[in-house]
Amino acid sequence: MIVVMKPGASEEDIQHVVQLVQEYGLKENVIRGTDRTVIAAIGDKRSVDKGAIENAPMVEKVMPILAPYKMASTEVKKERSQIKIGPKQFPVGGRKIAMIAGPCAVENEDQIFRIAEAVRQAGGIGLRGGAYKPRTSPYSFQGLQEEGLKLLAEARKRTDLAIVTEVISVETVDQVCEYTDVLQIGARNMQHYALLEAVGKADKPVLLKRGLSSTLDEWLLAAEYIINAGNPNVILCERGIRTYEDYVRNTLPLAAVPALQARTHLPVLVDPSHGTGHAYLVPPMCRAAIAAGADGLIVECHNDPEHALSDGAQSITPQALLTLMGKLKRIAEAIGKEA
Ligand code: PEP
Ligand code: MN
Repeated sequence: MIVVMKPGASEEDIQHVVQLVQEYGLKENVIRGTDRTVIAAIGDKRSVDKGAIENAPMVEKVMPILAPYKMASTEVKKERSQIKIGPKQFPVGGRKIAMIAGPCAVENEDQIFRIAEAVRQAGGIGLRGGAYKPRTSPYSFQGLQEEGLKLLAEARKRTDLAIVTEVISVETVDQVCEYTDVLQIGARNMQHYALLEAVGKADKPVLLKRGLSSTLDEWLLAAEYIINAGNPNVILCERGIRTYEDYVRNTLPLAAVPALQARTHLPVLVDPSHGTGHAYLVPPMCRAAIAAGADGLIVECHNDPEHALSDGAQSITPQALLTLMGKLKRIAEAIGKEA
């Protein structure tokens, strides 16, 4: 349930409610808005006397949270969340469109440094690149692992870009945290609940991709696992879903962007690379995603897509990224944003 405080409630009034919530055996989460504070009380509320809380000083009302996901819901927090990433604390969410780009996988020093420089020059804020790759086949390139993480950290030093890289196991969360700025949870692991709880205990923002055949509710409940474990900094990423269509690798449902924004305050990114599987479809779908209101994009970009060790077919070149950014600026402007 949500306890909405009256505007002007003091810290003492807020702490009083927090104490009541704790006495009822619920977990409190205090969300401070610009004009009022709300306290989300999460847990088994059968034994709670709602009236008693409603009577506390400076409480305006007590309401149930109807969505199955609680902390991720717009019912609990109306203002859109902004999450800061990387050494420069670039914002994800808000007026400025966040562009994160880079190869599917880190392959070698020359490759990642070249691409990092191109992403920086194009105006990106983040460098993506897998060091641990969750491949469909056990015979495919599995990533450079810790060596790849070290190269990413070096690329950050050179460019100040925020590093976004995937973590695929509970055992490697601490290691990946040492090198990265954002922990990516891949589509295949969206319902790996032990992993969600592990990144929920980490002190890095999490980029949570949508599962290949997950509904929005399942996805938001996966985000809820992370938030409930203690990490409120979750960024959602639509990366396409499985359908019968075969002209694309996945079908990219852009209606998910406004639909999510109606349900959650978390920032929403779109990944048109995995969302289509074809480089020629990436720029138009990036443009469409921004027009639909996405907070940013994550795009696969490779200096030599034809020889990429993974996902070359869906990787755009640095030149294409630069051209794309120019077009995104105009679209962003048309909808009151900035790219
Ligand atoms: C990736 O980002 O390289 C990746 C494996 O994505 P997804 O989990 O969306 O398939
Ligand atoms: Mn990929």
